[in-house]
Amino acid sequence: MPQSDNLPAGAAGHAPGEEPLIRFDKVVKRFGRNVVLRELDFTVDAGERVTLIGPSGSGKTTILRLLMTLERVNGGVIWVNGDSLSHMRRNGRLVPANEKHQREVRKKIGMVFQQFNLFPNMSVRRNITEAPVHTLGISREEADQRAEELLDMVGLRQKIDAHPTQLSGGQQQRVAIARALAMRPQILLLDEVTSALDPELVAGVLDVLREIARTTDITMLSVTHEMAFAKDVSHRVLMFDQGRIVEEGPPEQIFGDPHEERTKEFLHAVL
Ligand code: ADP
Repeated sequence: MPQSDNLPAGAAGHAPGEEPLIRFDKVVKRFGRNVVLRELDFTVDAGERVTLIGPSGSGKTTILRLLMTLERVNGGVIWVNGDSLSHMRRNGRLVPANEKHQREVRKKIGMVFQQFNLFPNMSVRRNITEAPVHTLGISREEADQRAEELLDMVGLRQKIDAHPTQLSGGQQQRVAIARALAMRPQILLLDEVTSALDPELVAGVLDVLREIARTTDITMLSVTHEMAFAKDVSHRVLMFDQGRIVEEGPPEQIFGDPHEERTKEFLHAVL
């Protein structure tokens, strides 16, 4: 089924590598009569860390969910590494994407959710190894080794055989980060990953993310209310309001010298 009926002519003609890693091209998203994104354009380069800020309801989470193909666009195109999420090439023509195409594009993307979303009936080890074994087809042994390395990185190696219910929220979220990275994604989507945590657990999760930002070249797209974190890790901040980007720039400018009234008001309310 087509997800988008206005694919721009020529937009698919670029060579991979010359394009940004992510390109939103006049993306429209509606829920019923509520138009959440209005012909949204923006790009993210490979290795870039971009943070989306703005009032609740401005469409930030929807952007991440569209990238994860958890939602479908109503217009425009989302490109990931030169592939459209909604269309694929067949005999030189662009046709609506099938499930297989979407799965392939999605393999490049990992997402961490506000509510962790770990499988409650599986150990930490299984949570991290299931998808690499079943989706990437790597051996259990290799997946196990990778799980151990990732748990080292998030400081939870000793919890490898625990179940999610035995972990604090902060620990569960660190496992969820390890699980996303186990798929070796090019892009990590972070959707308000500390919002559901008790305040004393927030710093541990943000420290893990700072470390990932410092030591890897993974492309990060985050939605967060943690402005200090956004300042530390982002190359660029996009300020949203009502489904549009009202201002964008490096964190020093957005937080230190915002130009738009809407950005000033928002930052005044949250800082
Ligand atoms: P933000 O992340 O900026 O808080 P969201 O992307 O979550 O904003 O939501 C943007 C708008 O889309 C809101 O008006 C919200 O109510 C609406 N919305 C999001 N998801 C759904 C859905 N599944 N069904 C209906 N409306 C939705």
